[in-house]
Amino acid sequence: YTGKTGSQLLTEKVKKIKVGEYSSMPVVIQESATVYEAIVTMFLEDVGTLYISNKSGQLAGVVSRKDLLRASMGKQDMNTIPINIIMTRMPNITYCFKEDYLLEVAHKLIDKQIDGLPVVKQAEDGKGLEVVGRVTKTNITKAFVELARDEII
Ligand code: ADP
Repeated sequence: YTGKTGSQLLTEKVKKIKVGEYSSMPVVIQESATVYEAIVTMFLEDVGTLYISNKSGQLAGVVSRKDLLRASMGKQDMNTIPINIIMTRMPNITYCFKEDYLLEVAHKLIDKQIDGLPVVKQAEDGKGLEVVGRVTKTNITKAFVELARDEII
């Protein structure tokens, strides 16, 4: 018997959870896509955030629902606006690796007031980052529910 309280054990457990255990598949579109194509993809894939990659497959940008709403408020034709002019671009993207702690991601989401982070890995050629997953508030909610379901001790 360790002499630890239930809450100490729970804290230890929370701090050990890694991003890889709770990440989802990312939805990635090409930089050459239009705003219209991004809206259709977001709707069909049922996600709140799309990641944008360049021709070499490296992470180049992020677009959220509100980015697309904002772009659609203007008078411009959404079929002619390239996604890369409205996206949040590198190096301003907050990302994580699958070996990172989920708690660290939760702190970043609160800090930056965003819904999720791309999970990335170093590209094979050593240049840039490739998106391999996503971790959102929904994934963190799932982890939270599973922790409550688990029997401690
Ligand atoms: P919404 O804008 O639909 O409320 P978010 O809160 O996730 O969704 O996004 C807020 C802003 O932050 C958007 O402009 C979006 O492009 C940007 N953003 C989203 N995810 C990230 C990220 N991981 N790193 C940097 N910026 C991001």
